[in-house]
Formats: sequence, C-alpha cells, structure tokens
Amino acid sequence: MLKVGLTGGIGSGKSTAAQRFEELGVPIVDADVIARNVVESGKPALEEVIAAFGEKVVSSDGELDRTELRKIVFENKEHKALLESILHPRIYDEILRQLDHLSTPYCIVVIPLLAESKRIYPLDRVLVIDLPHALQLERTSARDQQSEEKIDKIIQSQSSREKRLSLADDIVENSGTVELLYERIDLLHQKYTELAHQFESTAPKC
Ligand code: ADP
Repeated sequence: MLKVGLTGGIGSGKSTAAQRFEELGVPIVDADVIARNVVESGKPALEEVIAAFGEKVVSSDGELDRTELRKIVFENKEHKALLESILHPRIYDEILRQLDHLSTPYCIVVIPLLAESKRIYPLDRVLVIDLPHALQLERTSARDQQSEEKIDKIIQSQSSREKRLSLADDIVENSGTVELLYERIDLLHQKYTELAHQFESTAPKC
C-alpha cells in the first residue's frame, strides 16, 4: 500500500484536505486524532501525564485539561520534552498498528509535526499543504478564536515553511477557495491511485 504523509503548518488546511480524501474513500490515519485518543480518561498515558505534571492537568470530569497542559509545556522545553516522551512512542505505535490493518491501494497519514519529528515514518511520499503566512494567521485565528499574536507564537514555534516544503513530493497551495482546494485534492487522488497501482505491480510478492 502506498502511504502518503500529509503535513502543513497550523491552519494550513490539513484537516480540510484530509476530509476531502476521506470523501473520496481514502482511509485516513491521523496523528492528531490518535494523540487525543491516547490520553482519554483511563488510558495509561493519561496516568503518566498526571504523574508528571500533577492533578491540575485533569478537569473535574477526569478528562485531560488540554489548555492547562498547553500552558505548562508551551514555554518550557524540559516539560515539552517530558510530555513528548510519554506521548510520542504511543502515537507512533498506534500509527503503525492502524496502517497494518489497511488494505486499500493507498492511504493518507496526517502528521502535522512531520518536519519537527525525529522519527522515521514509513511514508512513500509527502504532501505539504502550504499558504502564505498572513492567510495562515487570519484563518487560524478565526477558527480558534484566538488573537493573531497568539497564533503567530505557535507558528514561530513550528518548523519554517521552507523546512516543511523541503520534505514535499507534492505541494498544494491553499490560498484560494475551499472548492479550489478540493479540485487540487481530486487531481492528487487520481495521481496517487495511479501511483499505487504501479507501486503494487512492482512490490515484492513475498
Ligand atoms: P489545519 O488542519 O491545517 O490546522 P484546517 O483544515 O482546520 O487547518 O483549516 C484552518 C481553517 O481554515 C478552518 O477554519 C478551515 O475551515 C479554513 N480553511 C481551510 N481551507 C480554506 C480555504 N481554501 N478557504 C477558506 N477557508 C479555508
């Protein structure tokens, strides 16, 4: 199976693009969804996060208080590294487990922080969703109801656009309408379907 990594900065349009692939029948393995699942109430990772950062990171209903946790790790490199050491191995293993269960010609693996990660993911190609900084700020602050200043801090904490683009086999420019984004994804779907067939015919049979 051809595995296509999908990445991009915050608010670039990864989820919107992934949703279109999903509508086209392509399975999506999403690191963000997995990251939320691994810290669900009762899961061992949540217990470890509480042991590391204290009860203040859980709300009264026993769920992880993401806002509080974000505050703790955002400006402290050691805390960030500690949180990542708890979560990342689990997220990585779950991505591999989900990939193992798929049998379609190709799939999309959404990894928002692919450019920041030190891990080697089993990807055959990388698709980057890209857009100009000003539009990234505008769309993200509208979506998250946060000031552009706050969003800009997050953007600055992520890899540069150039670094991300250097990983790309394919780039989708998303400064136009959603319809245009969909058209571009539809074209890529054709391309990936063709590539997946070539890929299968050249793959070793045992
Ligand atoms: P990401 O998953 O990369 O953080 P999203 O897919 O959530 O980004 O997109 C960020 C915001 O921008 C969302 O509110 C989404 O609806 C909007 N959006 C995405 N693509 C477009 C587009 N081409 N035109 C207008 N709004 C868009």
